[in-house]
Amino acid sequence: MGLTEELVTWSHEQKCRKAVESLGKHGFIAVYCQTPQEAFDYIVSEAVDAGSIGFGGSMTISGLKVEAQLREQGKEILNHGNHALSLEERLGIMRRQLTCDLFLAGCNALTLSGELINIDATGNRVASMFFGPRKVIVVAGRNKLVDGSAQDAIKRVRNWATPPNAKRLNFKTPCATTGFCSDCNSPERLCRVTTIIDRKPRFTDVRVLVVNADLGL
Ligand code: SF4
Repeated sequence: MGLTEELVTWSHEQKCRKAVESLGKHGFIAVYCQTPQEAFDYIVSEAVDAGSIGFGGSMTISGLKVEAQLREQGKEILNHGNHALSLEERLGIMRRQLTCDLFLAGCNALTLSGELINIDATGNRVASMFFGPRKVIVVAGRNKLVDGSAQDAIKRVRNWATPPNAKRLNFKTPCATTGFCSDCNSPERLCRVTTIIDRKPRFTDVRVLVVNADLGL
């Protein structure tokens, strides 16, 4: 690692640790991971007693490549992302994710003051993040950190995460063309459910892994 990269990594580490500290004050179990491999290992060890594992449809989680490992261990994998599935089949899996043993999700934005911000089109992912599954592990790459308020984080998601996502998924929204949010009223609008999880939900074991690497959009 060259000096510049080392300094960038160090600088990001301080921000990641600040978010971890804030999340801890808000009741979450929060863990700093120096590398994606550490996040992978944490998930695999926490999945030991889980029979069913739900996947929230996250580029961050799929980038960790943890699904194959868990499948090999005989876990029931609840992932609605297979496009060979019919809509009914996908919805059925999403409903079962709501009561799975372990739910894995990415996060659209995480403030340094310890708030998780997410925007969904369907709402299945965010619903499973705060009630239903016995345990939830949220993984946030350093690129999801926002030094600002929850409203700043929402702006970050709408302007930096959703436009490329809309383009990737081939949704016909203005942002998929312009790269900017125009708070559209498109029939294919992706931004339909916005959540701010600012304290650990009372009855759900929510853990947050903050990783010193760019993960997802
Ligand atoms: S509100 Fe519409 S234009 Fe704005 S980010 Fe969401 S889908 Fe794109």
